[in-house]
Amino acid sequence: MPSKQNTKANALSRCHDLDTGESDNENEILLKSEFIRSLDIQSKSIEFETLICQHSKNREERVERALRNKEEGLKELENGLITFRERVYIPIHAKLREDIIRKNHDSTFAGHPGHYKTAELITRNYWWPRVQPDVREYVNGCETCQRVKTHRTSPAAPLHPHEAPSRPWEIITLDLLGPLPMSNGYNTILVIVDRLTKYVKFEATHVELTAEGFAKTLRDRIFHDRGLLRKIIHDHDP
Ligand SMILES: [Zn+2]
Repeated sequence: MPSKQNTKANALSRCHDLDTGESDNENEILLKSEFIRSLDIQSKSIEFETLICQHSKNREERVERALRNKEEGLKELENGLITFRERVYIPIHAKLREDIIRKNHDSTFAGHPGHYKTAELITRNYWWPRVQPDVREYVNGCETCQRVKTHRTSPAAPLHPHEAPSRPWEIITLDLLGPLPMSNGYNTILVIVDRLTKYVKFEATHVELTAEGFAKTLRDRIFHDRGLLRKIIHDHDP
Protein backbone atom coordinates (compact mmCIF):
# COMPACT_ATOMS: atom_id res chain seq x y z
CA MET A 1 0.00 0.00 0.00
CA PRO A 2 1.35 3.46 -0.72
CA SER A 3 2.22 5.60 2.27
CA LYS A 4 -0.30 8.08 3.62
CA GLN A 5 1.76 10.91 2.23
CA ASN A 6 1.52 9.45 -1.29
CA THR A 7 -2.23 8.93 -1.03
CA LYS A 8 -2.62 12.57 -0.10
CA ALA A 9 -0.33 13.77 -2.83
CA ASN A 10 -2.22 11.69 -5.39
CA ALA A 11 -5.53 13.04 -4.12
CA LEU A 12 -4.27 16.52 -4.76
CA SER A 13 -3.00 15.76 -8.25
CA ARG A 14 -6.29 14.07 -9.15
CA CYS A 15 -8.17 17.13 -7.92
CA HIS A 16 -6.02 19.27 -10.14
CA ASP A 17 -6.84 17.07 -13.16
CA LEU A 18 -10.54 17.43 -12.45
CA ASP A 19 -10.28 21.19 -12.26
CA THR A 20 -8.43 21.68 -15.49
CA GLY A 21 -10.04 18.86 -17.41
CA GLU A 22 -6.55 17.88 -18.45
CA SER A 23 -4.98 14.58 -17.74
CA ASP A 24 -1.33 13.86 -17.68
CA ASN A 25 -0.42 10.42 -19.03
CA GLU A 26 2.29 9.88 -16.47
CA ASN A 27 -0.17 10.43 -13.63
CA GLU A 28 -2.65 8.05 -15.18
CA ILE A 29 -0.17 5.21 -15.28
CA LEU A 30 0.76 5.90 -11.67
CA LEU A 31 -2.87 5.82 -10.64
CA LYS A 32 -3.53 2.50 -12.38
CA SER A 33 -0.70 0.63 -10.71
CA GLU A 34 -1.63 2.11 -7.35
CA PHE A 35 -5.22 1.08 -7.94
CA ILE A 36 -4.27 -2.51 -8.69
CA ARG A 37 -2.03 -2.77 -5.63
CA SER A 38 -4.77 -2.15 -3.10
CA LEU A 39 -8.01 -2.27 -4.97
CA ASP A 40 -10.58 -2.40 -2.19
CA ILE A 41 -9.28 0.41 -0.02
CA GLN A 42 -8.07 2.65 -2.82
CA SER A 43 -11.22 2.47 -4.97
CA LYS A 44 -13.22 3.79 -2.03
CA SER A 45 -10.73 6.64 -1.48
CA ILE A 46 -10.85 7.65 -5.14
CA GLU A 47 -14.64 7.77 -4.93
CA PHE A 48 -14.35 10.16 -1.95
CA GLU A 49 -11.75 12.32 -3.63
CA THR A 50 -13.95 13.00 -6.65
CA LEU A 51 -16.75 14.27 -4.38
CA ILE A 52 -14.31 16.27 -2.25
CA CYS A 53 -13.10 18.09 -5.37
CA GLN A 54 -16.58 18.64 -6.78
CA HIS A 55 -17.91 20.17 -3.55
CA SER A 56 -14.76 21.92 -2.38
CA LYS A 57 -16.51 25.32 -2.30
CA ASN A 58 -19.21 24.22 0.20
CA ARG A 59 -17.48 25.30 3.37
CA GLU A 60 -18.54 26.19 6.88
CA GLU A 61 -18.51 29.92 7.62
CA ARG A 62 -15.89 29.33 10.33
CA VAL A 63 -13.61 27.64 7.79
CA GLU A 64 -13.96 30.60 5.41
CA ARG A 65 -13.22 32.97 8.28
CA ALA A 66 -10.21 30.96 9.41
CA LEU A 67 -8.88 31.06 5.83
CA ARG A 68 -9.36 34.84 5.65
CA ASN A 69 -7.56 35.23 8.98
CA LYS A 70 -4.80 32.92 7.74
CA GLU A 71 -5.13 30.74 10.83
CA GLU A 72 -2.22 28.42 11.44
CA GLY A 73 -2.41 24.93 9.97
CA LEU A 74 -5.12 25.77 7.46
CA LYS A 75 -4.14 25.98 3.80
CA GLU A 76 -6.08 26.58 0.62
CA LEU A 77 -4.39 25.01 -2.38
CA GLU A 78 -4.51 26.44 -5.89
CA ASN A 79 -7.10 23.88 -6.95
CA GLY A 80 -9.52 24.97 -4.18
CA LEU A 81 -8.80 22.01 -1.95
CA ILE A 82 -8.26 22.84 1.72
CA THR A 83 -5.97 21.08 4.14
CA PHE A 84 -5.84 21.45 7.90
CA ARG A 85 -2.57 20.19 9.42
CA GLU A 86 -1.99 18.03 6.33
CA ARG A 87 -5.48 16.48 6.52
CA VAL A 88 -7.84 16.99 3.60
CA TYR A 89 -10.84 19.12 4.60
CA ILE A 90 -14.16 17.43 3.76
CA PRO A 91 -16.65 20.01 2.44
CA ILE A 92 -20.26 20.25 3.65
CA HIS A 93 -21.88 17.20 2.08
CA ALA A 94 -23.84 15.04 4.52
CA LYS A 95 -23.60 11.81 2.54
CA LEU A 96 -19.89 12.19 1.83
CA ARG A 97 -19.10 12.78 5.51
CA GLU A 98 -21.32 9.85 6.52
CA ASP A 99 -19.70 7.55 3.95
CA ILE A 100 -16.27 8.42 5.30
CA ILE A 101 -17.41 7.64 8.85
CA ARG A 102 -19.01 4.39 7.67
CA LYS A 103 -15.85 3.28 5.88
CA ASN A 104 -13.83 3.84 9.03
CA HIS A 105 -16.34 2.21 11.37
CA ASP A 106 -18.42 -0.52 9.68
CA SER A 107 -15.96 -2.20 7.32
CA THR A 108 -14.35 -5.52 8.21
CA PHE A 109 -11.11 -3.61 8.07
CA ALA A 110 -12.30 -1.18 10.78
CA GLY A 111 -14.43 -3.62 12.79
CA HIS A 112 -16.82 -1.25 14.64
CA PRO A 113 -14.37 0.52 16.95
CA GLY A 114 -15.67 3.04 19.51
CA HIS A 115 -16.12 6.69 18.58
CA TYR A 116 -12.65 7.79 19.74
CA LYS A 117 -10.91 5.15 17.63
CA THR A 118 -13.22 5.77 14.64
CA ALA A 119 -12.46 9.50 14.75
CA GLU A 120 -8.76 8.74 15.11
CA LEU A 121 -8.83 6.58 11.95
CA ILE A 122 -10.67 9.30 10.00
CA THR A 123 -8.43 12.14 11.10
CA ARG A 124 -5.32 10.31 9.89
CA ASN A 125 -6.37 11.57 6.43
CA TYR A 126 -9.42 13.82 6.69
CA TRP A 127 -10.80 16.62 8.82
CA TRP A 128 -13.90 18.79 9.17
CA PRO A 129 -14.87 21.10 12.08
CA ARG A 130 -17.43 18.84 13.78
CA VAL A 131 -15.83 15.51 12.98
CA GLN A 132 -15.81 14.34 16.64
CA PRO A 133 -19.51 14.95 17.46
CA ASP A 134 -20.53 13.65 14.01
CA VAL A 135 -18.63 10.42 14.64
CA ARG A 136 -20.09 10.06 18.16
CA GLU A 137 -23.61 10.52 16.81
CA TYR A 138 -23.00 7.96 14.06
CA VAL A 139 -21.50 5.35 16.41
CA ASN A 140 -24.30 5.85 18.98
CA GLY A 141 -26.79 5.18 16.21
CA CYS A 142 -24.96 2.17 14.75
CA GLU A 143 -27.28 -0.85 14.82
CA THR A 144 -24.48 -3.41 15.05
CA CYS A 145 -22.93 -1.63 18.02
CA GLN A 146 -26.39 -1.38 19.65
CA ARG A 147 -27.03 -5.12 19.19
CA VAL A 148 -23.72 -6.00 20.76
CA LYS A 149 -24.48 -3.75 23.73
CA THR A 150 -27.98 -5.22 24.21
CA HIS A 151 -26.60 -8.73 24.03
CA ARG A 152 -23.92 -7.98 26.57
CA THR A 153 -26.28 -6.52 29.16
CA SER A 154 -29.21 -8.90 28.58
CA PRO A 155 -29.98 -10.86 31.79
CA ALA A 156 -31.41 -13.69 29.64
CA ALA A 157 -28.09 -14.25 27.85
CA PRO A 158 -27.01 -17.88 28.33
CA LEU A 159 -24.04 -18.65 30.52
CA HIS A 160 -20.87 -18.99 28.54
CA PRO A 161 -17.57 -20.52 29.63
CA HIS A 162 -15.80 -17.42 28.32
CA GLU A 163 -16.76 -13.81 28.90
CA ALA A 164 -18.53 -12.09 26.00
CA PRO A 165 -16.57 -9.74 23.76
CA SER A 166 -17.97 -6.23 23.52
CA ARG A 167 -16.42 -5.39 20.14
CA PRO A 168 -14.86 -7.20 17.18
CA TRP A 169 -11.26 -8.40 17.56
CA GLU A 170 -11.36 -7.97 21.33
CA ILE A 171 -11.35 -11.71 22.00
CA ILE A 172 -9.94 -14.17 19.48
CA THR A 173 -9.55 -17.92 19.28
CA LEU A 174 -6.37 -19.46 17.91
CA ASP A 175 -5.81 -22.93 16.54
CA LEU A 176 -3.09 -24.59 14.52
CA LEU A 177 -3.95 -26.86 11.57
CA GLY A 178 -1.22 -29.22 10.51
CA PRO A 179 1.39 -30.28 9.93
CA LEU A 180 0.53 -30.18 6.23
CA PRO A 181 2.75 -30.92 3.22
CA MET A 182 5.40 -28.20 2.97
CA SER A 183 4.41 -25.32 0.68
CA ASN A 184 6.61 -22.23 0.13
CA GLY A 185 8.36 -23.02 3.38
CA TYR A 186 5.15 -23.28 5.40
CA ASN A 187 3.58 -26.44 6.80
CA THR A 188 0.95 -25.22 9.24
CA ILE A 189 -2.03 -22.90 9.13
CA LEU A 190 -2.76 -20.61 12.05
CA VAL A 191 -6.52 -20.10 12.28
CA ILE A 192 -7.55 -16.86 13.97
CA VAL A 193 -11.28 -16.48 14.73
CA ASP A 194 -12.90 -13.35 16.11
CA ARG A 195 -15.35 -14.56 18.77
CA LEU A 196 -17.88 -11.79 18.16
CA THR A 197 -18.21 -11.72 14.37
CA LYS A 198 -16.83 -15.25 13.72
CA TYR A 199 -14.64 -13.61 11.07
CA VAL A 200 -11.79 -16.03 10.29
CA LYS A 201 -8.24 -15.28 9.20
CA PHE A 202 -5.76 -17.88 8.02
CA GLU A 203 -2.01 -17.43 8.28
CA ALA A 204 0.51 -19.79 6.74
CA THR A 205 3.13 -20.62 9.34
CA HIS A 206 5.42 -23.35 10.70
CA VAL A 207 4.79 -26.12 13.22
CA GLU A 208 7.78 -24.79 15.13
CA LEU A 209 6.23 -21.34 15.47
CA THR A 210 8.11 -19.67 18.30
CA ALA A 211 6.48 -17.44 20.89
CA GLU A 212 8.27 -14.53 19.25
CA GLY A 213 7.03 -15.45 15.76
CA PHE A 214 3.57 -15.93 17.18
CA ALA A 215 3.58 -12.50 18.81
CA LYS A 216 4.84 -10.95 15.57
CA THR A 217 2.09 -12.60 13.49
CA LEU A 218 -0.58 -11.36 15.89
CA ARG A 219 0.93 -7.90 16.00
CA ASP A 220 1.04 -7.62 12.19
CA ARG A 221 -2.33 -9.20 11.49
CA ILE A 222 -4.54 -8.22 14.43
CA PHE A 223 -3.08 -5.50 16.65
CA HIS A 224 -2.09 -3.28 13.77
CA ASP A 225 -5.47 -1.84 12.84
CA ARG A 226 -7.86 -3.20 15.41
CA GLY A 227 -6.53 -1.80 18.65
CA LEU A 228 -5.42 -4.02 21.49
CA LEU A 229 -6.80 -7.46 22.05
CA ARG A 230 -8.26 -8.12 25.48
CA LYS A 231 -8.12 -11.90 25.49
CA ILE A 232 -6.72 -14.75 23.44
CA ILE A 233 -8.28 -18.18 23.80
CA HIS A 234 -6.15 -21.06 22.60
CA ASP A 235 -8.18 -24.11 21.65
CA HIS A 236 -6.07 -26.32 23.88
CA ASP A 237 -6.85 -24.23 26.95
CA PRO A 238 -8.91 -26.10 29.60
ZN1 LIG B 1 -20.86 0.00 14.90
